[in-house]
Amino acid sequence: MTGASRGIGRGIAERLAADGALVAVHHARNVEAAAEVVDSIRATGGDAFPLRTELGVPGDAQALYSAFDAELLRRGIEPRLDILVNNAAVSGSARIHEVTPELVDRIFSVNVTALLFVTQEGLTRMPDGGRIINLSSAITRMSYPESVVYSMSKGAVNTLTLALAKELGPRGITVNAVAPGFTATDMNAKLRTTPEGVARLAGLSVFDRIGNPSDIAGLVAFLASPDSLWVTGQRLDASGGMHL
Ligand code: NAP
Repeated sequence: MTGASRGIGRGIAERLAADGALVAVHHARNVEAAAEVVDSIRATGGDAFPLRTELGVPGDAQALYSAFDAELLRRGIEPRLDILVNNAAVSGSARIHEVTPELVDRIFSVNVTALLFVTQEGLTRMPDGGRIINLSSAITRMSYPESVVYSMSKGAVNTLTLALAKELGPRGITVNAVAPGFTATDMNAKLRTTPEGVARLAGLSVFDRIGNPSDIAGLVAFLASPDSLWVTGQRLDASGGMHL
């Protein structure tokens, strides 16, 4: 579970652990936040361990899996990945005239390149019948020029999801993307600093509220479960009916 120390990732990690998964709580910098997630999972009878690796830098996927394998071996478990949730990502507000090569490099290296290689390496540990769930965004089905590069990166995630679903079908592995709308996390905290900002984001949903991580976690839990075995290659919108 990449990016599990905060926000949507934390919500998904806690839900998957409650459903019985042993969860690797991946994070980059927030060691204390990740430890808190692990503690909260253990306190409610689940099992998890922290896994720290910076994504978007050379050798990231190898570093992630060498720590992952080491922890499983320490527990006497042969390295195995039943469910991969590719959630870690960075955002960046920039309209076309504000885009720089550095911004493109940063967003694509974390949101696309790292996700691709974490998946490639993860597949060598995934048994038949495994699950891959990629976090996309509702702004891949609507125009959002305020974050053009971030939107593009999530478009790439959708495309990878579609391609891999066909590639991995013979192994019974499903690959789906979940596309949240505005969800209350650090990623969009700047847009929620005033009551007007909150009301504007809430008003985009037909339910007139901003999403919570648990709203997204339920859908991911379904896609991670045996009940979803006939669903693959899909981008499932989890935006509360944003811009219908
Ligand atoms: P968030 O609150 O900003 O949390 C991001 C998580 O990713 C953290 O656990 C962070 O770890 C990790 N991370 C970030 N950069 C990393 C890097 N370079 N290497 C390793 N880990 C890294 O994000 P969120 O809002 O929960 O978003 C989760 C996912 O949903 C993302 O894919 C995002 O694009 C998508 N999404 C979010 C929204 C929304 O409204 N929030 C809407 C649509 C889609 P540290 O804590 O260690 O930094």
